[in-house]
Amino acid sequence: MSTLEYPHERDALIRAQVRTDRLQLLFRQTFFSVLGSFLAALMLSWLCWARIEHSVILYWLALLGVSTSLRVILLVTYFRSPSDTRTPQRWELKYCLTLVLSAAIWGGGALALMQANDLLTQTLVLLFTVGMSVSAVSCYSAYRSMTIVSIGLVLLPCSFWLLFQPAPMQIGMAAASLVFASFVVSATRKLSEAMEKAFRLTREMEYAHSIANHAAQTDELTGLKNRRAFFQEAEQTYEHCKRNRLPLSVLMMDIDHFKHINDSYGHQAGDQVLRQIGAVICEAVRDVDLCGRLGGEEFALLLTDTSIDVARATAEELRQAIARLPCEHIEGITASLGVATMSAVDQNVHMLLNDADKALFRAKAQGRNQTAVA
Ligand code: GH3
Ligand code: MG
Ligand code: MG
Repeated sequence: MSTLEYPHERDALIRAQVRTDRLQLLFRQTFFSVLGSFLAALMLSWLCWARIEHSVILYWLALLGVSTSLRVILLVTYFRSPSDTRTPQRWELKYCLTLVLSAAIWGGGALALMQANDLLTQTLVLLFTVGMSVSAVSCYSAYRSMTIVSIGLVLLPCSFWLLFQPAPMQIGMAAASLVFASFVVSATRKLSEAMEKAFRLTREMEYAHSIANHAAQTDELTGLKNRRAFFQEAEQTYEHCKRNRLPLSVLMMDIDHFKHINDSYGHQAGDQVLRQIGAVICEAVRDVDLCGRLGGEEFALLLTDTSIDVARATAEELRQAIARLPCEHIEGITASLGVATMSAVDQNVHMLLNDADKALFRAKAQGRNQTAVA
């Protein structure tokens, strides 16, 4: 995760991630609810088979079959799509439309079954719609609006129909189901808020962790890797190149007479020079290369899959770029470089860096502002 400079950018990033997390949870929880709602319809049809006109049941099941198939296709397409395309913008509306269609068919069918002039059937149907509402809370809890819409479409048609029937028993059942619905609606608010908070806290923790990690590995002044992070990664790169028989070269660089720069222009001017040199190094290398500030005014570059000739050319480019650096008031900033490449004699990355260090020492001894090869 990248670290962002401004709090509002960070908040926007976390909000977007939380929305994606909710969508993922929604799809993960939906698979069983899709099949479950069709199975519930089958079971209810079986229980009411002898009491209701068969054509009504068959028509209802056929429509539910279509909407269930649409939802299964949506789920399969979602899970087979590349993860970077599983965005809320792309999937939320489609999901919502298929859910509304399926809930409306369920609720409409239940209402059609209700109209049989039979209290036992009505009780059974109401029981099933209440059960469907409970499963909606557990399946769509990440999206409160979807939970409410699905409960409304499934439970309310039957409840309101019962409310206007003559028998006190029917009115009582309707009232009980409406009271139940109101409790469920308030529970969904608490549940979805708790989920959103959990997602947000997780993402904030990840973000804080990534910032702390980045800070622990980075040299604050130049933005390059610090000594510890450089050696950690250098060891892995060394092993990788050795295993795969890839050439690996290293550059050690030290700024010439840097103490003089500090003494003459002040420590802050010295810091500014270090920052500029950090930027020059970043410009000169590829993403796969590893650059670090090993301490003071000393830098190291590990160039993967790079021969000694290419490394020497890179060192010369760096040296010339530093000599051309436009620094306010300060003239003649130069650096000396030592170059070495991995050989059969080296046992580890420290030996390789040691070779480059010896070459750097020679470059200093021969007059500075030059590159020496081990
Ligand atoms: P040489 O050409 O032999 O390398 O000479 P030099 O003066 O560059 O080498 P020396 O090792 O004598 O001096 C390095 C100086 O770098 C001394 C120290 O004060 C300075 N230095 C180390 N870290 C920092 C830093 O973070 N900021 C600044 N401004 N100076 C630093
Ligand atoms: Mg120096
Ligand atoms: Mg030095």
